[in-house]
Amino acid sequence: MTEQIYKNPDIYKIYVPLPNNPLKNLNCYVIKTKDKNLIIDTGFNIEECYNALKEGLHELEIDMEKTEMFLTHLHSDHVGLAGAIMPKGANIYMDKTDYEYFVNFIQGESWDAIDRKFISEGFPADQIPILRQTNPARAFAPDESFEAVTVKDGDKINVGGYEFTCISTPGHTPGHMCLYLESEKLIFLGDHVLFDITPNITFWSHVENSLLNYIDSLKKIEKIDVETALPGHRKNDMDFYVRIKEILKHHELRLAECYRIICENPGINAYDTAGRMQWSMRGRNWQEFPMHQKWFAVGETIAHIDYLLAEGKIKKQPENGIYLYSAN
Ligand SMILES: [Zn+2]
Repeated sequence: MTEQIYKNPDIYKIYVPLPNNPLKNLNCYVIKTKDKNLIIDTGFNIEECYNALKEGLHELEIDMEKTEMFLTHLHSDHVGLAGAIMPKGANIYMDKTDYEYFVNFIQGESWDAIDRKFISEGFPADQIPILRQTNPARAFAPDESFEAVTVKDGDKINVGGYEFTCISTPGHTPGHMCLYLESEKLIFLGDHVLFDITPNITFWSHVENSLLNYIDSLKKIEKIDVETALPGHRKNDMDFYVRIKEILKHHELRLAECYRIICENPGINAYDTAGRMQWSMRGRNWQEFPMHQKWFAVGETIAHIDYLLAEGKIKKQPENGIYLYSAN
């Protein structure tokens, strides 16, 4: 299913379904010009995504020999099919930091570190092997790595005479990137700003304060002149700047909630803190959450705890290999 969403340059959206996933779909964008095309993001490495993407590209009559790819970030729903659909040797642009994390994930190293971290934050250790099989980020990742042309903040990508600028927006992932077409005030957002869901902010190895990075990256793009904002998932049916303010407010309230729970329960771990936070899960309570949703919730909670630690509002203390938090 394709839809033209912009003229000059011609930009199309391919609707890539993400079955059984709360994100519902991935928006794959295709910039089509006479000389060259650019595909932005792909979908999971599963048949439903592959078929939708292939059909869309066929419908748009995209000549893959004249096509490059830009990946906003390392998540499997964005990079899953990069290697499978791009011809050998074609340029695949990706932020250097995210590419390095991605290669580590493919080799399995990063997942081990993340698993150990979650256990140290109170996550039930016996659930980890089950999650390995059911978490779509793990199960639907590409089978193998692909070569990328790594890019950094401010780098330009020329597509048929249109000059796009890479804008580094770390937070959702350590090397998340948006792509901006200044002449049209148009931006591809990846998962930096989503409009009817809040992008997941979680703990990352070697990142001290993901949430602070994310908030800084929101303030960074807030300063950019944008008329057309294109998110990586679902629809954009509201003002870009209003939405940025809403997301900033959301995290402010979340930080206050997290802080209040730790004040009221000195010596609590991150897993139990997550269990006391409010999550929009269609009225279900924490006990009823599927394990992989708990995993996301705990990751999000750790990111807020890291922020409070860096602010000096709370302190942590290990006990039997698990971190316990109290107010300062
Ligand atoms: Zn993502």
